[in-house]
Amino acid sequence: MNRRTFLTQTATAAAGLTLLPMVANAQTTAMTSQPITTVSLPGNLKIHAISTGQVAVTDAFLHAGNLGFLRKANILFNRHFADWMPIHVWVIEHPEGIFVIDTGENAAITNADYFNSVGMLNEYVNTHAFRFEVAREEEIDRQLAQLGIRPSDVRAVVLTHLHIDHTDGLRHFPKTPVLLNRYEAERPYNDLPQLYPATFAPTLIDLKPVQTESFAKAHPLTTAGDLWLVETPGHSHGHCSVLLQTGQQHYLFAGDVSYTQQQLLTNDLPGANASLKQSQQTYLTIRDYAAKHPLVYLPSHDGDAARRLAMGETLPVVL
Ligand SMILES: [Zn+2]
Repeated sequence: MNRRTFLTQTATAAAGLTLLPMVANAQTTAMTSQPITTVSLPGNLKIHAISTGQVAVTDAFLHAGNLGFLRKANILFNRHFADWMPIHVWVIEHPEGIFVIDTGENAAITNADYFNSVGMLNEYVNTHAFRFEVAREEEIDRQLAQLGIRPSDVRAVVLTHLHIDHTDGLRHFPKTPVLLNRYEAERPYNDLPQLYPATFAPTLIDLKPVQTESFAKAHPLTTAGDLWLVETPGHSHGHCSVLLQTGQQHYLFAGDVSYTQQQLLTNDLPGANASLKQSQQTYLTIRDYAAKHPLVYLPSHDGDAARRLAMGETLPVVL
């Protein structure tokens, strides 16, 4: 990113931190609400990790394995659920405004008729391959209120992709600009447009090639050039991540590039993927970037991500 501006010299993750380990078995009971994790960084920056409830998916969603063309059939029929995972929304308080990355889930998703409008196959997948636990107080509007932030205070909602657990909270931002990669809008993968709020009218972003960094295409979100929408396809065709570059640490809010950091490090590709080839390339891109910059890697559903954010723990270099 040739317009990168380093804001300050040292990124110390230092605010009052309350953390709970996300360890639960989806076969039994989901954990109760996860507290908000906040880090204050030099340069008048804050990052908040907010989990809007929990989701459990089957092993077939988590791991592509070596099933070849049977991978997608396995997603339909696999019934072994892995552990509960958070559904993160990331909030960046930046001198240029407040950015909310994804919008999380809503309590209504646990209603029996929630997927009635999406067609038989989608209803089957969404009621058999996922389990959700979301309380009303975990929805993004209520948790932003805890931080003293109203939806009208938010400069932009930035979507990594169009999956329901990233878009369902859009109903709380009827007047906030929503930024989305144009290609994700043009070629969505397993989105459920029937469930978008009527107000959903995203500003479509054309990512441009950049010359000096690992990511092939990017779009600056700030005039300071320290916050970027970067192309990270694979999970969906137009999947993006958000990259924050501070004076020392860099942070990648990685959506569903992988479910955990461990997956990225061990080259374990997720089963839920529009393109395994692109997903593999995105893994290489992020590991390449982490070899050049100290990078805190924050996927949406990683139960260890809030702790890594709090500790400023960077991605080990694995090329
Ligand atoms: Zn997704």
